[in-house]
Amino acid sequence: MLDYHLHLWPHSERETPLRIEQLAAYCARAQEAGVAELALTEHLFRFRQADALLGGFWDDERVPAALAESMARYWRFHATADLDAYVRCAQEAKAAGLPVVIGLEVDYYEGRMDRVADLLAGYPFDVLLGSVHWVGSWRFDDLDDPVSLAEWSTRQVDASWDAYTEAMEELAASSACDVLAHPDLIKVAGHVPDAPGEWWDRIAEAAAASGMAAEVSSAGWRKPIGEQYPSAGLLERFVARGVPLTTASDAHRLEHVADRADDLRAVLDAVGAAELQGYRARVPHPVAVAPAVTGGIGASG
Ligand SMILES: [Zn+2]
Ligand SMILES: [Zn+2]
Repeated sequence: MLDYHLHLWPHSERETPLRIEQLAAYCARAQEAGVAELALTEHLFRFRQADALLGGFWDDERVPAALAESMARYWRFHATADLDAYVRCAQEAKAAGLPVVIGLEVDYYEGRMDRVADLLAGYPFDVLLGSVHWVGSWRFDDLDDPVSLAEWSTRQVDASWDAYTEAMEELAASSACDVLAHPDLIKVAGHVPDAPGEWWDRIAEAAAASGMAAEVSSAGWRKPIGEQYPSAGLLERFVARGVPLTTASDAHRLEHVADRADDLRAVLDAVGAAELQGYRARVPHPVAVAPAVTGGIGASG
């Protein structure tokens, strides 16, 4: 079992301390849940290097002013840490024998993924997650931001799923990342089309064509949608197309590390998935889904 999606800092915190003790605590908690390896995957947009490269991407005449201003505020709040220091800290954790690999959660930036890939090529990453958290400059999953949240009442659900899926297709085709994170994140607020099959088909097809893996994440259980990412229908499509899988908590704090690992095992069991995919230096290798730990912290009771 893996926890291949972990953050060091909650979105509400601007301070970005880097301590190897925090990583050791993450590893200890994961081990209790039978999770053997962790990937540190902080958001690329938390780093000043991303700001230098991508800052201002929302300055586009197609973006409504309120969304552009919201994105600018969000970006300014987040893009303060140093990517070199982050990578160094992860390398130290590895050298100390902690079962971690070095990664990032990389967002999709329309028309800019070549530049993103060039920046990331200079670092010793093991795995890169590809995510879509916004379409245009609408942060559809930022349910704490009134401007972003209000968009859900003015947009059609089908059109939102369509725009999200198009971004996922372009992200997959860019070959910039290894794993599609929370592949049906667009359902986060609870809005799902009556017949989501056509969008599930497109997302699964995009993953299969790109050779990327797909993440199975417990984070959706902590959101209004109240189910894992991806939905069973999308997970079945991934498996049918031979798309490799990772497992993840998307924790932003210690208490969520390896969250509901046993429930994720049950989700994998239901589709007959006995193998996950790990990464070293962005080269994949198979990892067994180990049996559940009785009474572990991931137990659902
Ligand atoms: Zn994410
Ligand atoms: Zn994340």
